[in-house]
Amino acid sequence: MLNALINAATATVANLVGDAQTWIFIQLVQPLLYHFHFMDMDDLAYDGTLWVVAGAVQIAVVYAILRPLEALRPLEHWPDRKAVRVDVIYTLINRLGLVSLVFFLVLQPQFDSLQEWLRLHGVVNVNLDEVMRGMRIHPLVGFAIYVVVLDFAGYWYHRLQHQIQWWWELHAVHHSQRQLTLWADDRNHLLDDALQQAFFAALALAIGVAPSQFVALALVGGALQSLQHANIRLHVGWLGERLLVSPRFHRVHHAVGYGHELGHGNRARLYGCNFGVLFPWWDMLFGSADFALLAQPTGVRAQDPPPQGQGLDYGAGFWAQQWLGLQRMLARIIARPVSKRESQDMAGA
Ligand SMILES: [Zn+2]
Ligand SMILES: [Zn+2]
Repeated sequence: MLNALINAATATVANLVGDAQTWIFIQLVQPLLYHFHFMDMDDLAYDGTLWVVAGAVQIAVVYAILRPLEALRPLEHWPDRKAVRVDVIYTLINRLGLVSLVFFLVLQPQFDSLQEWLRLHGVVNVNLDEVMRGMRIHPLVGFAIYVVVLDFAGYWYHRLQHQIQWWWELHAVHHSQRQLTLWADDRNHLLDDALQQAFFAALALAIGVAPSQFVALALVGGALQSLQHANIRLHVGWLGERLLVSPRFHRVHHAVGYGHELGHGNRARLYGCNFGVLFPWWDMLFGSADFALLAQPTGVRAQDPPPQGQGLDYGAGFWAQQWLGLQRMLARIIARPVSKRESQDMAGA
């Protein structure tokens, strides 16, 4: 019964999205392709249109649910939400953007030929999809396995973004927001975005995730990450906190002087805590989880005026944030390498 309902609902949504995709493609995209003589990109553009429509639906649903909750049960109160506006731009670029799909589709032929080469040379390649088909695993269970594998990679990826100093300077664009809202998830440096998309598209292809599953995962994952950043007073209970990354758990990751900077003398905590993307399990497993109930301001310590911080400006507008991020990254790369001892002192400061 429930299965039939879910199937019917999924089919209805898929039909609606498919209709919108076809309509927009015929009315808008195809005339542009013909005008600029890009007719051979027809297939790619048709797939891309689906991504844009699905992204628009996702943003609308997320906004319709989370914005009223932010207004009704805010965790923090601000005189105005001006600082949030730039995050709306980041969200539109990312979620309507074709970046993910382009990476996936462009990398796919390379991967196919790489796998063909490996097969020819008798090298065993790990394709989870084939393994699961061999074991007759249900498609939904298969999808769940992909989610867990990609999330595990996501945890380590995020932990390295904090640990590798030049990379942190790019990731700091995300952490420099002091008004954390449902829009903050996509606030990232464009270079960091490109790295991330390339890495996850490559990994997804390597383990055999189909494009439709990749899109589905990006949509569901993106919605959950919007919730994690929302300015909502919400506690999901002891168990809920440990099943999925909650807004409270992720807010601790953004807490000034705590989420990134606090060392605690514990190796796992040296560059912060709560790196989990969808599940807090990896943080629990590798000693970086912090379930503390603290309501601390969010941001980067260096933004604070001296003596705690350095009064560093991370930029208010989109281009300022991008430019300053690039400068900080280059300064780190050019500067002499910081010794282990010094970096520990910095992290513990
Ligand atoms: Zn982070
Ligand atoms: Zn975040």
